[in-house]
Amino acid sequence: MRPVNAPGSLETLRRRNRGLVLRAVQSGGATSRVDIVRATGLSRTTVSSLVNELLAEGLLAEGTDRAGRPSVNQTGRPPTRLTLEPSSGTVLGIHLRHDGIRLALADLAGAVLAEVLVDLDVDHRADAALSFVEDATNDLVAEAGISRSRLLGAGVAVSSPVPTLPRHGPALLTTWHDIDVADVLGERLGVRVQVGNDANLGATAERVFGAARTTRSLVYVMLAEGVGAGLFLDGRPYLGAKGVAGEFGHVVVAPGGRVCRCGNRGCLETVAGAGALVAALPARADGTVPDLDDVLAACAAGEPGALRIVADAGRAVGTALAGVCTMLDPDLVVVGGRTAAAGRPLMDGIVETLRRGVPPTDEPLVPVVAGELGARAEVLGAVALAISGAPLAVPAPV
Ligand SMILES: [Zn+2]
Repeated sequence: MRPVNAPGSLETLRRRNRGLVLRAVQSGGATSRVDIVRATGLSRTTVSSLVNELLAEGLLAEGTDRAGRPSVNQTGRPPTRLTLEPSSGTVLGIHLRHDGIRLALADLAGAVLAEVLVDLDVDHRADAALSFVEDATNDLVAEAGISRSRLLGAGVAVSSPVPTLPRHGPALLTTWHDIDVADVLGERLGVRVQVGNDANLGATAERVFGAARTTRSLVYVMLAEGVGAGLFLDGRPYLGAKGVAGEFGHVVVAPGGRVCRCGNRGCLETVAGAGALVAALPARADGTVPDLDDVLAACAAGEPGALRIVADAGRAVGTALAGVCTMLDPDLVVVGGRTAAAGRPLMDGIVETLRRGVPPTDEPLVPVVAGELGARAEVLGAVALAISGAPLAVPAPV
């Protein structure tokens, strides 16, 4: 091993530290100099010097909020926000929902350049879904007016567990058992494709771009067709030993209740998933089949039945959440997914049973807020995942 005072060792160290700083920003976990100090363990002076160097070389940029909104911290002053240089390339975010696909083409700061949402039975038409993604990618690249060669990678959010063990496809999407999404899409798109669970990526998006930007320990609850959770503990994503932590929808809240798609009875998803909400809606006079949008519209119109359905779902979520919060003591709970659009009645139901279910204390209840990114959180999380894995052309330090 070369001694630390050998010629060149300082330069080697500097190069390594540049890599650490760049990687901290690229991962989405650090958006300020303070974050970088915390993430890398380097001194403030070193971080400040390296950030200035990377800014001067055009590898980093500052001042732009990734979601394009004014960015204000708790002191009311706009923080300096560090990102990769936006114009260094583009990435694609893909959310494969059970009933549709959302794609977003974004720059390396995460600003969306073009996006599309299509209804498609993703569960049963894997080939059609993959072909759609391939065609839509070409359309989005053309719409954004960029060269295809500037597409550096893609992230995919799937509505199923994504074990960190190799060679597992999204098992709960019915016809996708034998498909390795990263391999197949990577071949079709000609770029590196990374796959993540949609609730985990929703949590990532709210932490990088949305409601949880200053949060160290976060529980993100995704309420949609499926129900899931994404966790950040002490500033880091928590995926569990096998990569499948946060299967919140399969926490049993109604023992002996309805059989869930996982095979158990009474899972939270059988009570608070979109299917359960829709099934509880009274039959319509015109014979048409209602969907989640109808539940949300009825709720917004103040229909008592819909309000009750949503509040009951919220209470079931709060009951399950009480165990999670008692165990983890998070700073913040963010509620996202399509169902979160129900707003007040849902949130009141959650807080009611959460308050009842956590141990009594003089401390205020953990804040429970709606996500800022709405139904786009998961696709924006896929964008963040793609950014974190994008190959960067890094020149040697001057
Ligand atoms: Zn289940």
